[in-house]
Parts: sequence; C-alpha cells; structure tokens
Amino acid sequence: MMDTVAELGYTDFSQAPKKNVHEAPFERNCSVGRTIAIIGDTWTFMILRECYFGIKRFSQFQDILKIPRTTLSTRLQMLTEEGILQKVPYNTSTTRFEYRFTQQGLGLYSVMISLISFGDKWLSDANPLPVKLFHRNCGQVLKAIVACSQCRREVKGQDVSYRNGPGSGWSPMDPERVKSRHSHFFKSTESVRPSSVARTLSIIGDRWSFMVVREAFFGVRRFDELQTALGISPNILANRLSKFIQNGILIKIPYQDTPPRYEYKLTNMGRDLFGPFIAMLEWGDQWLSNNLPPLLLTHKVCRNDFRPCVICSHCGEAIIPQQVRYEMSYPNPVNASSN
Ligand SMILES: [Zn+2]
Ligand SMILES: [Zn+2]
Repeated sequence: MMDTVAELGYTDFSQAPKKNVHEAPFERNCSVGRTIAIIGDTWTFMILRECYFGIKRFSQFQDILKIPRTTLSTRLQMLTEEGILQKVPYNTSTTRFEYRFTQQGLGLYSVMISLISFGDKWLSDANPLPVKLFHRNCGQVLKAIVACSQCRREVKGQDVSYRNGPGSGWSPMDPERVKSRHSHFFKSTESVRPSSVARTLSIIGDRWSFMVVREAFFGVRRFDELQTALGISPNILANRLSKFIQNGILIKIPYQDTPPRYEYKLTNMGRDLFGPFIAMLEWGDQWLSNNLPPLLLTHKVCRNDFRPCVICSHCGEAIIPQQVRYEMSYPNPVNASSN
C-alpha cells in the first residue's frame, strides 16, 4: 500500500497551501474528515447509537446517557440541521417531538456496525459482549465485514490503492473544527450501558485521533508529514501519537540514528480500523461530497474501482437497521423505566 500511495503522490505535500498565521489552517479534502466533523464527537455518536436501539425522545436519551441537558439539546439540534435526524410530533394533541432517522441518518448505520465489530474484536477483554447482534436475514450472529461492491470480497487496507477524485484538493479548515473536543465521558456511560462503540470511541472518538489514523492508512508515517497533512499543532499531534502507542494502535520505529527519528506504523489492531475508516469514507462521499468524491478507491484483488459496503459475513447481504436484532447482556434501562 505504501508504494502505491507514494507513487501517486499522496504523500507529496508540495502542493499543500502554506499556512498564514492569521488564517485557519488548510486541510486535505476528504469525505472521512467531513464525516468526522459531524459525528466525531463522542456524545454525538452515543446519541446516534441509542437512536439505532430505538430511542426517540429527549427524556429517554437523558435517562440512558446521563447527558447534561444543554449538551443533549445542542447535539440533537446539530444532527437535525445536518439532515441526519428529523423532528416529528409524536401525537397530534401535543407539541412534543421525537427524533427519527432520515435516509442520510440510516446510512450511517454501516459506520456504527463497523465500529461495533472493531470494539468486539479488540476491546472486550474476553468479557461477554455487551450487545449481541443477530442478522434476521440469515438468523446468524452478525459479523459485519466491509466488502468490495464489485467482487463482494472483504476489503483489507493493503488491498486498496487510492487516487485523486474530482473533488480532491485542499480547503481552509472551519475554525470551529480546529478546536480539539475530547470528552471524558467514557467511564460514566460504560456504567450505564456497556458498548463496543463506546470503547472504540474512547480510543478514536475525537476528530484529531481519527484523522491521524486516516493519514496512517494513506502511508503518512512521520511527525512533520502528519503535521503538514493535518494542520495540527505539534503538542496535540504528540499527544495523539503517544495515546495510540499506549492503546496498541501504532508502534514507533526508528528510521534514523543521528539525530534519532521515528516513524509511526499501524499494528494489526490499528489496521483493523480500516473497516470503520472506509465505511465513513463511503457515507461522506454519498452525503457530503456533492457527487465529487475527493478520493477514488481501487480494489487490487479484482482490479476494479469500488465502493465500500458493509455486509453480513454469513449471507453477504448489506446490513440495514431493520434486519438486525439486539440481545443485551444487561437490563435495558428504558424498558425497565418506561413500561
Ligand atoms: Zn473487489
Ligand atoms: Zn446474514
């Protein structure tokens, strides 16, 4: 993968605009970046997860997530403005609303499912899985894989080559998005509703973390290159890199002795983030790129350009929310309180 990326100039930053100190930094046009800018906030993702479990009302979100009221209402408003949720009155005689998915929101389900698969595999510490998913189509325990739309085989990071698409280039970063927003909510939600998504997001759930992983998939491995590619401040970058090393996502390998210099490479666990990564890319291309995808993917195995799709490893069908049944290994707080 590294060779292909280098050949195609993906690690050539000579075309990146130089940063003027008075301006917001530039960033690479990328559907993953746009997706993360919307859902990369951990609370947002937790709210979405509850929506997929069937939660629709403000008070239910509050009960389950123990989320501050203003945080919840800001996130729900943002998700509505972004076209992911819609507000619908829940009966004709009241002015009260519930939140339901739009088509765009339902499309995010693949991202959620691929995050669950990652968490189940790497972060469950041999404990029983918090939520068991069954595929109604085939009746099997759901194991999701990200597959090639052309040959339907599972897609691994090393089997994909990238080239610039019609929407490639660099854009100024939204100043709001420059801020790092890492929330320390993990412990409190874990005690309420344990979840592989929460565990996965505790590692990659802020925007900068996922962007660092994105660059690693593109073959960007050195500190200064990462800084240029992301417009990230050195201390935030150093912090994310050391967190990834602690969590087993990256390893640090010396490439030069005097002065000592290091490259950061993905471990096997890190490479497994490729599934969630291209699930986000696909969703961003579909909903946020105005039909101008910044990046085109080729599956080296079948030699076709492809779109990533999240399918059931047993029956090969695309996974949609209505076809998934959940079995929880702990009491469901909503059923307990609202019935
Ligand atoms: Zn293929
Ligand atoms: Zn199936």
